[in-house]
Amino acid sequence: MSALLKELLSPIRAAFFPDRCALCHRVIPKDTKVCKTCRKTAPVIRGNACHLCAMPEKECTCKKHSRYYTALTAPFIYKDVLKTGIHYWKYKNYTVSTSFFAEMIASSVKENFSDVTLDYITFVPQTEKEMAEKGYNQTELLADALGEKLELPVATLLVKLYETNRQHDTELLFKSGNVAGVFDCVQTEKIKGKNILLIDDIKTSGNTLNECSKMLSLYDAENVYCAVIATTNLRRN
Ligand SMILES: [Zn+2]
Ligand SMILES: [Zn+2]
Repeated sequence: MSALLKELLSPIRAAFFPDRCALCHRVIPKDTKVCKTCRKTAPVIRGNACHLCAMPEKECTCKKHSRYYTALTAPFIYKDVLKTGIHYWKYKNYTVSTSFFAEMIASSVKENFSDVTLDYITFVPQTEKEMAEKGYNQTELLADALGEKLELPVATLLVKLYETNRQHDTELLFKSGNVAGVFDCVQTEKIKGKNILLIDDIKTSGNTLNECSKMLSLYDAENVYCAVIATTNLRRN
């Protein structure tokens, strides 16, 4: 499409597809990402956070149980309007939020992992069937956007071998068993001795991140660091 045509169509496009807040999904002025209310009230994590569950220290209940990853960071707590924002992004194909979420994760990574030289970004994978249903993996798109912002290469290092119940729908008690042995690694030459940044959307029990990190560690990753959009203080079983 020519630049002129694009310009002419832009008010029409805006009328049909107005810009919406990446979190609450209300219509917002053009070229902004988040509405005024969300900017004030979104559950942003500020100050000291636990390095394993990423929750503010006061709200951490993880008891610092050791994990296969070195540290986790998140810009938000998974509650209130974050639930709405992530729901729209994941299930209503509101992909415009990808850039906003990547920007927020990039700030958290820069702030919390500033002393680490990261070699690759990778992401929690989906099975081929899950990919076929949607046509893409939302978390991979997030990792790609983050790669651009952090100027780091993104590599597919993990594969998901078979279907599981959605972690979100699984009783906490069963979550660990639900993902055990589900993941394997590919391009293993890119893992050995490297610092890997692993991306997922939400950390609930932490078992998915832990299982993926375990596989990367088995293939001799030096360290696995994790980053998600939003975290919770649900405990691992
Ligand atoms: Zn909003
Ligand atoms: Zn914690």
